[in-house]
Amino acid sequence: MTMEAAAMTKFDLTALITDVADMIAAHADELTTLDQAIGDGDHGLNMKRGFEAVRAETAALAEKPLPEALKAIGTKLVMTVGGASGPLFGTLFMSLGKELPADPGRADLAAALAKSIDAVAARGKSQAGQKTMLDVLYPVQAAVSAGKSAREVADAADQAAEATKPMKAIRGRASFLGDRSIGHIDPGARSTALIVRAVAETLESGA
Ligand code: ADP
Ligand code: MG
Repeated sequence: MTMEAAAMTKFDLTALITDVADMIAAHADELTTLDQAIGDGDHGLNMKRGFEAVRAETAALAEKPLPEALKAIGTKLVMTVGGASGPLFGTLFMSLGKELPADPGRADLAAALAKSIDAVAARGKSQAGQKTMLDVLYPVQAAVSAGKSAREVADAADQAAEATKPMKAIRGRASFLGDRSIGHIDPGARSTALIVRAVAETLESGA
């Protein structure tokens, strides 16, 4: 199965929003535990609050064309997630809304992801290798760009999140710990992988 044109032409926004919100809710405690190890322990609640706020707007969002829905989701996440990650996830979704056409194919998705991830990096004054969500986002973009299947993209995201474990945090709250940030998965990298898996599984099963 690939995220091929047929699967991409009809985005079931209701299913996508529901599945991402369910995934975050199911893993909120895990995200909290990860953030307790190298942050302040709020990442699970931050993400759950944000995606439950998005879920509450599902009906209105599903009426919108994909770009408008993504922009609205980004705005909602900025308003509700909070912390360092809220504006960064908000930027990601708002930028995807700006870059994607209404009926995107894989090449559109790869290009929009590349620009949107750069927008997150600019917003966070961050780059790959600093133990953040970017360390999942860049490999995801590479996998999409390389034509990987939805499942392979999700697996690449999981592996990339796992690969933040030996990294030393250079950005965000975890950087305050210096070397003590080593040995823990970055919470934002993990939440990003969860979102990617939910989207990939939904796109794969839909169509
Ligand atoms: P806070 O750190 O303010 O408590 P969260 O706990 O919600 O916010 O989010 C922390 C996550 O945000 C980190 O695990 C990391 O992935 C991401 N993050 C923090 N700062 C940056 C940054 N400058 N660039 C990219 N990602 C960042
Ligand atoms: Mg935190």
